[in-house]
Amino acid sequence: MRLRHIIAATALLGLLGVPAHADDAKLSAGSAVMGRPSSATPSWLVAPLSASLERGDPHRDGAAYRHSPAPLQDAAGPQRTSPDPLSDIGRDTLPANDGWAAADGGTTGGAAADDAHVYTVTDRAGLVRALDGGSETPKIIKIAGTIDANTDDDGDRLTCADYATDGYSLKKYLAAYDPRTWGTAKPSGPQEEARKASAARQAERVQLTVGSNTTIVGISDSKNTAVLKGASLQLKGANNVIVRNLELRDAYDCFPVWQPNTGGLGDWKTAYDNIWLRGATHVWIDHVTVSDKGHPDEKEPTYFARNYLRHDGLLDITNASDLITVSWSRFADHDKAMLIGNGDTATGDRGRLRVTLHHNEFESVVQRAPRVRFGQVHLYNNRYVVPADTHDYRYSIGVSTESGVYAENNAFHTPGHIEVADLVKSWNGTTFHQTGTLFNGFPVDLLAIYNAYNSGSERDLTADVGWTPTLHGKIDSAKAADREVARGAGAGRIP
Ligand code: CA
Repeated sequence: MRLRHIIAATALLGLLGVPAHADDAKLSAGSAVMGRPSSATPSWLVAPLSASLERGDPHRDGAAYRHSPAPLQDAAGPQRTSPDPLSDIGRDTLPANDGWAAADGGTTGGAAADDAHVYTVTDRAGLVRALDGGSETPKIIKIAGTIDANTDDDGDRLTCADYATDGYSLKKYLAAYDPRTWGTAKPSGPQEEARKASAARQAERVQLTVGSNTTIVGISDSKNTAVLKGASLQLKGANNVIVRNLELRDAYDCFPVWQPNTGGLGDWKTAYDNIWLRGATHVWIDHVTVSDKGHPDEKEPTYFARNYLRHDGLLDITNASDLITVSWSRFADHDKAMLIGNGDTATGDRGRLRVTLHHNEFESVVQRAPRVRFGQVHLYNNRYVVPADTHDYRYSIGVSTESGVYAENNAFHTPGHIEVADLVKSWNGTTFHQTGTLFNGFPVDLLAIYNAYNSGSERDLTADVGWTPTLHGKIDSAKAADREVARGAGAGRIP
């Protein structure tokens, strides 16, 4: 933090009559208990799976993986006769008052599933069967080990080359649509047609529709995290869904499209969010870890002077989705992490997009943590980490059209070249409420500093967001939350 900003922060806090430690903990009326008492994963359950996984990528060793005994499904003896301790988390429901997803009857996911609709899955085919085409039947799906969505029905790994069809090649695509010869028209013709056909083949594998009344949980502990690789979980119009204790990795697009008119310079557009809530309601996402692990976009080449991106959002919440709680999760190693509202003209989002984000960690995220349009978003007790070697950081909290972000007691850790005013960015935003923010250990008034240092192209933001959150658990000081989130957020860490 530069000296002028320390001075600015101190001065502004003084002017506003904010005490130096404005982040005192406060208790809500309905203090919620998160999670449940620890029940360690029994060794009989995890050991055989992890042993087979440790031999390497299961899809490079497909035969061994497929034909090895599936201890969770071939339930001889103990699994059937002794109570399954892991069914506890499968039947968990969102605690009362725990964020927006607790409104209007709360969120129970698949807790009402009968025994015939409780599944343990270890490969894509099993997961697809359990998801049942996005049916509304109450169901609990437990993921064990690592599932790669880029696999065929036999579990064999599919590469980008396997999806490519109709003569698509990146080399030919680049030659066809080079702005120096093609210009700025939207790509069309044989290579774009071939790209679309190829992309459809990948989409058919990696887009997985999650229906109403579904709970998806990973079976794991801190040493054996359940992983879903390459998939895009899509909740389209689904109501009452829970996703917990799962690592979602690398929703990698083999066939990005060139958009010559995006952002002035053109850009590569990718197709897949790890999780996409589209018109979804009553969703609780908890203790997940979501990242580009394995394929960072910064390692991708540059084509047409733009980074050849492979990933879209980690968790995007759009199209009038509503009543969402995202808690104790890690969003990491990614560019555009979380978009809440995807268009300034999407007025159907007005009065919707109500989201609570608490006790999450955003680490090595370039932007959108989150970016908000329209929604009433309660952002409390989150931890932001921008690593020292970061070069492309843009902002953390994006305030856009008609958004009402209510931020309390969040902690930021940044290297020296990032300043307080960089943490917030506004496009057509008018309001932003914040208290209790810690910036590299210093209490700061994000709003006052944003207004003091904004570029002039954006108007000042006011603190009146027009609402006050009432649905939340205990709100810790930023300092306490920072410590707890560092220790407890992400898959494999349900206490
Ligand atoms: Ca998206």
